[in-house]
Amino acid sequence: NKLKSSLTKTRKSFTEKIEQLVIGYADINDECLDELEEILISADVGVHTTMKLMDDVRSGIKKKEINSPQDLHPFLIKHISTILSSGENSPAAALTGPTVILVIGVNGVGKTTTIGKLAKYYKNENKSVILAAADTFRAAAIDQLQIWGKRANADVIAHGEGADPAAVVFDAVKATISRQTDILIIDTAGRLHTKTNLMDELNKMYRVIKREIPAAPHETLLVLDATTGQNAIHQAELFTKAAPISGVILTKLDGTAKGGVVVGIKEALSMPVKWIGVGEGEDDLQPFNAEEFAAALFE
Ligand code: GDP
Repeated sequence: NKLKSSLTKTRKSFTEKIEQLVIGYADINDECLDELEEILISADVGVHTTMKLMDDVRSGIKKKEINSPQDLHPFLIKHISTILSSGENSPAAALTGPTVILVIGVNGVGKTTTIGKLAKYYKNENKSVILAAADTFRAAAIDQLQIWGKRANADVIAHGEGADPAAVVFDAVKATISRQTDILIIDTAGRLHTKTNLMDELNKMYRVIKREIPAAPHETLLVLDATTGQNAIHQAELFTKAAPISGVILTKLDGTAKGGVVVGIKEALSMPVKWIGVGEGEDDLQPFNAEEFAAALFE
């Protein structure tokens, strides 16, 4: 399956190393634990999550749940699966009326592509979709969204480059209501280096949306690039200070060995990963499923 093949490199850098560790040590000693810690750090789960898992392992040894290196592998599978499956991972939807999804993230992480894939996903579910080109900072972003809109057969609401993003959002919300569209996906400019601007810009968009649809936006999704590893976690930390993020879309999990960031984002930031990107094609976006992910990572 696609998920499993996407995680091949991550599996090599993580699971296979743990398997070798198990073979390499007859007993659990300090050296074995040091090596385990190094494997976790290099798997990009992050320092915080590594420390948490090492604490779990040490208390597992005390409680005699871990008696030999062989016990480490199933123990880690269990604890990592628990981290991944805690909390609400499913994409939110409106109870009645349109579902409004705001998408943020810095350039290059795969934001536009992901919005196109999301549109395609919802169209496949027989939902009508409008895309709002509220990343008015780059003309290329508007053009690219138009292309994805055509491909997914979704309407695109756009103004020119440099237009007020809130004005685009206003038109898009109006169109969504009058056309009785199911899903509105809003592309925003994620310029992190101007945090206050980003906050002002987002606040203005929230106000415009809420005036028409009080329960919206139902999601504010942050797009992160898995290939950047720890930097993705750092970006998530910065963005939480600027916006009420409801979930993460982790792109480019295919072809990276840094898939462990999924665990780090979840544990260190208590942020649910809701979607994962597993390729460049229009169908290469999947709702995140913790059990499937853990199984693909370990089995
Ligand atoms: P943006 O600047 O954030 O809007 O990024 P784009 O949507 O333009 O994407 C940047 C590049 O990442 C493009 O070449 C995409 O095809 C690629 N990309 C996006 N998502 C994925 C993914 O899940 N897997 C892979 N392999 N490439 C992706």
